[in-house]
Amino acid sequence: MEKVRLGRTNLMISRIGFGGIPIQRLTEAETIPVVRRSLELGINFIDTANNYTTSEERIGKAIKGLRQNVIIATKSGSRDPLELSHHLELSLKRLDVDYIDLYQFHGISDFASLDKVLAPGGAMDVVVKAQSRGIVRHIGISSHQMDVAIKAVATGRFETIMFPFNFISSEAADKLIPLCRQLGVGFICMKPMAGGMVDNANVAIKYLRQFPDIVPIPGIEKAAEIEEIVNIMQGPAQMTAAEKRDMERIKETLGAHFCHRCDYCQPCTMKIPISTVLTHQSAYRRLPPARFFSPPLGEPIEKAAECSDCGECEQRCPYHLPIRKLLKEQITWYRGLKREYEKQCTSSSLK
Ligand code: SF4
Ligand code: SF4
Repeated sequence: MEKVRLGRTNLMISRIGFGGIPIQRLTEAETIPVVRRSLELGINFIDTANNYTTSEERIGKAIKGLRQNVIIATKSGSRDPLELSHHLELSLKRLDVDYIDLYQFHGISDFASLDKVLAPGGAMDVVVKAQSRGIVRHIGISSHQMDVAIKAVATGRFETIMFPFNFISSEAADKLIPLCRQLGVGFICMKPMAGGMVDNANVAIKYLRQFPDIVPIPGIEKAAEIEEIVNIMQGPAQMTAAEKRDMERIKETLGAHFCHRCDYCQPCTMKIPISTVLTHQSAYRRLPPARFFSPPLGEPIEKAAECSDCGECEQRCPYHLPIRKLLKEQITWYRGLKREYEKQCTSSSLK
């Protein structure tokens, strides 16, 4: 597997990484062969997070005895120094490692959170201290919001950024990726398959191959998925005319309802987390049902039912999405699935 230098970290990582969210849906026995197969195929970069429930622990078990072959990235969503310090200890314990190659601030998508973690005595200081002790080797950030991501990269405090990038949501190519190149910040590409909305892996991966210095981390649940992706990586890099046509067709079909999570539609007058609701189907594909239907994850959907139909969000959406209609569709979809799930739970508890 071809390797790429991850910005100024100088880490040489495989051109494709392993996204550790979907393995939460598997049992421990199912997880280990999937991770091991990925390593066999030459993947040496695995990304996980404190809040991916079982993911860190299972990855830890799967890489037992193979630590030297793996570059591990994990993250904490905490903005509080004490809590983050606890998350870091927990990650080391769950992964069963002495150090983490890349520790990332998870999902910093507003300026206040960025300022908070970077403030003197804040969470960044905890990670810098851990870095001086060798527990953390490099420091990164993940974000969904372009302006925040650009500011974070420009601070010079982060060696990597993880940001959504795919042929549907390709805004990062305009400014963020060039800025990363200029400042030596490694670009890790989350949602290479548009959060599961694109099922044509060939087109999705070949599009990303046009950016030779970025590292896509598709979420992997089955060995067959990573085998297919590695195969595409090893085939011709250039997209054929037919593949380009496929890409345009998919873009056209999805474009009318694909939420880019840019949050330009905010603030919603009813405080509805619009992008979270509109991208809920992606969470459904990645999370175990018990977690997906748990009350905290259902909250945004219930909130969406309070939409007052004011239409202000639609005037601000740069993609002209019919947000009100899409919210209603999401509510119907979610409630229908939830009813089915609850029925299944009840019938299995009666058996
Ligand atoms: S139309 Fe609904 S979702 Fe949009 S701003 Fe108004 S209340 Fe919020
Ligand atoms: S609804 Fe439109 S403005 Fe809001 S996050 Fe999605 S794409 Fe962005």
